[in-house]
Amino acid sequence: MGKYSKEDIIKFVEEGDVEFIRMQFTDVFGRLKNVAITASQIQKAVNNEIMIDGSSIEGFVRINESDMYLHPDLDSYTTLPWRPQQGKVARMICDVYLPDGTPFEGDPRSTLKKVLKIAEEKGYSFNVGPECEFFLFETDDKGLPTTQTNDDAGYFDLDPLDHGGSTRREICMMLEKMGYEVEASHHEVARGQHEIDFKYADALKTADNVMTFKFAVKTIAQKNGLHATFMPKPIFGINGSGMHTNMSLFRDGKNVFADPSDPLGLSKEAYSFIAGILAHIESMTAITNPLVNSYKRLVPGYEAPCYLSWSASNRSALIRIPAARGQGTRVELRCPDPSCNPYLELAVCLMAGLDGIEKGLVPPEEILDNIFAMSEEERKAKNIKSLPSSLKEALDKMLEDELVCNTLGKHIITQYTEGKYAEWDEYRTAVSDWEVSKYLMMY
Ligand code: GLU
Ligand code: MG
Repeated sequence: MGKYSKEDIIKFVEEGDVEFIRMQFTDVFGRLKNVAITASQIQKAVNNEIMIDGSSIEGFVRINESDMYLHPDLDSYTTLPWRPQQGKVARMICDVYLPDGTPFEGDPRSTLKKVLKIAEEKGYSFNVGPECEFFLFETDDKGLPTTQTNDDAGYFDLDPLDHGGSTRREICMMLEKMGYEVEASHHEVARGQHEIDFKYADALKTADNVMTFKFAVKTIAQKNGLHATFMPKPIFGINGSGMHTNMSLFRDGKNVFADPSDPLGLSKEAYSFIAGILAHIESMTAITNPLVNSYKRLVPGYEAPCYLSWSASNRSALIRIPAARGQGTRVELRCPDPSCNPYLELAVCLMAGLDGIEKGLVPPEEILDNIFAMSEEERKAKNIKSLPSSLKEALDKMLEDELVCNTLGKHIITQYTEGKYAEWDEYRTAVSDWEVSKYLMMY
């Protein structure tokens, strides 16, 4: 049973001075979409009768099979606090269904739900806490984004160096009004870079929260004359933005990753989950790091991971186990970036981890040293492999991995790889400023 009934939603709309309701969903490439309806249509909306044309959405369907229905998740109902408070705008997050009443297999939210069901059948619930980083850039006279940052601050710096502080504060306040529990917010390492962490939740809620978070951050930045971007590496030579993903499995309300009798306080399931992620990560990277630009972040020296490794302390490792134990025991995957589709990201992470548990995989030895400081020979001697170095390599690897392909399903794999190979080809054939400055004079 959900929190809200259809009648509750109708009452909220009718009695809460709501004029518009945005019916939101996410496309295969992680972009938030919506259809706005007026309050007069709310009855239809709660009865799953709002229709969309799926053929207009990239990665959805072809023109001859395009009618789809939005099934709102009633519990996701909230009003948008940055919109006028008279004649309010509300929103609901929706699943996409076919006219025959079956979930559309190209809907990322349904994909995650399917995978969560598999975990549930094994007795697990999957909790996730993301750490979303982003940049706030200035806009030009025409209101277009630049890559000029609006501050000179660094890690944990405080006003007045951190000019983005007031925008960040406003974002946090808006999020709290929407029911988020914001646990921490701070300036990140790079100038103009920020992080806001909200409380972990079950994976579906977290993926919904990430999508709404990005929408809120961008909207509030724009209101303040700034441009917020979740592009992973907007500026060469300084840190990029990650979305470190903290994951744990629970059974009967207890964290199964915790085992006080183990020297590191981790259970057998935790070790196998780590091993499962490490076994599949190269073929999951096209999902966790989906842009050409994502691979410019995954280079040594900027606190982003590049090598397949895990550690209970070391931040240079791909997987880190933060200090908390007991119910807070978790596995932090550090490669994902905030441009990824969180539904697909969490679906592949969960299936990879469960595969590790199912097969009783054991991870390699923990790496205690700074991997960035190791030579290639040292890494070879320790058998430390690298993450894919480009979107192309990541896509090729993804297609070789049965588990990842099955998790995403034929429809998403086909649409996703088609779109992403085309993106790679566009990049491969474009002539960049770097090439011109490097070769124009020399040759
Ligand atoms: N910005 C870094 C990254 O790209 C992470 C910094 C941190 O440890 O929070 O992953
Ligand atoms: Mg951070």
